[in-house]
Amino acid sequence: MFRKILIANRGEIACRIAATCRQMGVATVAVYSDADAHAAHVAMADEAMRIGAAPVAESYLQGARILEAARATGAEAIHPGYGFLSENPDFAALVEEAGLRFIGPPAAAIRAMGLKDAAKALMESAGVPVVPGYHGAAQEPALLARNAQEIGYPVLIKARAGGGGKGMRRVDAPADFAEALASAQREAQAAFGDPAVLVEKYVTAPRHIEIQILADSHGHVVHLFERDCSLQRRHQKVIEEAPAPGMTEAVRKAMGAAAVEAARAIGYVGAGTVEFIADGSDGLRPGGFWFMEMNTRLQVEHPVTEAITGLDLVALQLRIASGAPLPFAQSDLRIDGHAFEARLYAEDVPHGFLPAAGRLSHLVFPPGAAFRNAPLRIDSGVQQGDVISPFYDPMIAKLVVHAPSRAEALTRLGAVLAGCELAGLTTNLGFLAALARHPGFVAGKVDTGLIARDLDQLVAPKPVSDLAIGVAAIAALGLLCGHRGLDPWDRLVGWRAWSEARHTVRLRSGEAELLRSVVVLGPDRYRIEEGERSFDLRIDCDAQGLRVVFCGQNRRISVIGSRAAVTVVLDGTDHVFALPDPLAVGGEADAESGVVLAPMPGLVRLVSVAPGAAVAKGDTLIVLEAMKMEHNLTAPRNGILVEIQAEVGQQVDAGAVLARLAPAERTGAEDSDG
Ligand code: ADP
Ligand code: ADP
Ligand code: MG
Repeated sequence: MFRKILIANRGEIACRIAATCRQMGVATVAVYSDADAHAAHVAMADEAMRIGAAPVAESYLQGARILEAARATGAEAIHPGYGFLSENPDFAALVEEAGLRFIGPPAAAIRAMGLKDAAKALMESAGVPVVPGYHGAAQEPALLARNAQEIGYPVLIKARAGGGGKGMRRVDAPADFAEALASAQREAQAAFGDPAVLVEKYVTAPRHIEIQILADSHGHVVHLFERDCSLQRRHQKVIEEAPAPGMTEAVRKAMGAAAVEAARAIGYVGAGTVEFIADGSDGLRPGGFWFMEMNTRLQVEHPVTEAITGLDLVALQLRIASGAPLPFAQSDLRIDGHAFEARLYAEDVPHGFLPAAGRLSHLVFPPGAAFRNAPLRIDSGVQQGDVISPFYDPMIAKLVVHAPSRAEALTRLGAVLAGCELAGLTTNLGFLAALARHPGFVAGKVDTGLIARDLDQLVAPKPVSDLAIGVAAIAALGLLCGHRGLDPWDRLVGWRAWSEARHTVRLRSGEAELLRSVVVLGPDRYRIEEGERSFDLRIDCDAQGLRVVFCGQNRRISVIGSRAAVTVVLDGTDHVFALPDPLAVGGEADAESGVVLAPMPGLVRLVSVAPGAAVAKGDTLIVLEAMKMEHNLTAPRNGILVEIQAEVGQQVDAGAVLARLAPAERTGAEDSDG
């Protein structure tokens, strides 16, 4: 076994690989970009080396620098994780040429599966069923259109170099073909530098079912059963499970055999996944699945397979790479229970699943998670306070549950999602919870169109609870007891003896403006008024946090506040209230010093002035985006702008100095200059 390996990745997968290495007594070297200097994966490794600037092209895709880091630290092998260089045959070859082991398949096997057209041709000749369609080299639009006609609509245009669902267009009618083709080619050219496409029959009621395989360097190949990844948005997986609902022994055997055949055909070594598309319109059948592609690496969703088999795939990858034979045969493997994985992302589901960068000001996972053989496993690469930056995949965590039956596992998934508390940025947590309750999914009737079909219902905003509004209003006033804030602008600290008994608070929830009055009845006792209506509540705090007493009920709540927003987590639902005018507070001090600070963590959207410009009080200098709202940061007084410390696209912390105005007395003189 290796003594030391380098992990050429970041985030949760780098942490996950390091966890297994630690158990095996293998030392680890992490690599990091400037944006990740304080990241969890760096802290977890025994050694770490900087490999470049934040953009992936300057760091995590710099194969030569990563090799250099391996040499400098004496690592014997490189684990590429997934994404980045994991499916780059040139990198795999470079690693081996340098005398190190690549923890993955031989470069030739990666190359064989690298392009979808060549892979399909190869699989066809190996006797593996492939999706009917055209995967030839000629790319004239008229020829492709003719092929589409022959295949029969609907068809799917796919980039042959594609991945992550990019460069893919479903076409339902001949009239739409030309335009869809042009757009798929443009996207493919931009994302992969290769506009070539294939055209496939669009399988109706499609289910994505994939087989995990393991092959050693002694010619043994086994499969570790299937995963169902049909819950997808824009061809990307959201919740995965194993085994697949409705799977029969006959279909499993046929799919497993096809996957093993695919691996053998390319001389595969290591862990890999063969992805099939299955026709789910009338139950699964042995002749109703077709090869789509092979991912020649560890897959994001591998933990569900680990849960149902009790195996550690990363440990097996290391063993195989160091030359050991597989420690079991196909007949030794069994499925134990059922597992789900939900991918928790910083993304804005109703706005087209847009990545949502920002600071994770609050992150609490339900207790009891363990790495292996546990009912709950949480693989995450971030900690509370970390920034989810626009440079990388916005994944926060993978929540993996395991139980004896599918129904029990799904109930557990619901409970786990309800127990997560996140604030500071927009996440898909509520969407995942809604999915876990979706009647079709609950019944195991999954297909890749489920999410798109029922999206409106899955993202329907939950009614905002009056209680949550009341608590948010109290918090916005800074009246909450013992609240620990994260940023220097946090005003929610300590009991204050206010002179007036009644305060009016304006909050925003989505598009709605909410106006509430808070009457302080005594320490921790309040009346919340909305016009004629009112109710009383009490807020207690103990070591565990806050509890709200209302109508005889006593419930745990969490309140997370910044100057921009208050998040109230109540019964597993987070309610976010924006404070519409965060700049109204504390503006005076800024005017005197001429310094413009970021009032909240956010993303710089616009810088409207350059140093040297004369500005008047109230002029917009910078537009900052936070909590889905744009905030204009204005000049606190007249003056000359001497410094701007903000760039468009930059993530800034609360309290960061973004701009500076020249001292007031110089204003007049410089005004006349220009
Ligand atoms: P598929 O290729 O079928 O979509 P996966 O669901 O396993 O398979 O997704 C792999 C994707 O994960 C990569 O294409 C990449 O966009 C993304 N990725 C790469 N590296 C990381 C990382 N360190 N953390 C999170 N996501 C990553
Ligand atoms: P990627 O490399 O982007 O993962 P895939 O070929 O694996 O590309 O396809 C991604 C997803 O697109 C699949 O998981 C499936 O949901 C859908 N898909 C692919 N091929 C077909 C098809 N022929 N018919 C219907 N859906 C398909
Ligand atoms: Mg795929």
